Amino acid sequence: MDAPVYYQCQRCTNCCRWPGFVKVDDADIRAIAAHLGLGEHDFIQRFTRLRPQRDGLALIDQPNGECIFLEGRDCAVQPVKPEQCAGFPNTWNFPGWREVCEAVPI
Ligand code: SF4
Repeated sequence: MDAPVYYQCQRCTNCCRWPGFVKVDDADIRAIAAHLGLGEHDFIQRFTRLRPQRDGLALIDQPNGECIFLEGRDCAVQPVKPEQCAGFPNTWNFPGWREVCEAVPI
């Protein structure tokens, strides 16, 4: 059987600009709040919103739709970015993702 291919992110930041929701779970909230030097409640109030299904929280966007933590081509919470961000495109992706993501197989 072939070894699974791992795709290495090239930091093109396309996935930081797509419309949609970046889910954050309890572990994400704990890690990002600590990284920013905020209490968890404060972080939730300032940087999250309820998801449309009302089944959890997601990060808020910048007015132009980019992720609230995208700064130029950098992620302000890169060492502790949400699981959803860290996993793409290896643990989850969608049909046609190769056309919009510059990650390369290694
Ligand atoms: S779209 Fe792909 S290559 Fe670009 S930042 Fe996201 S995961 Fe990395």
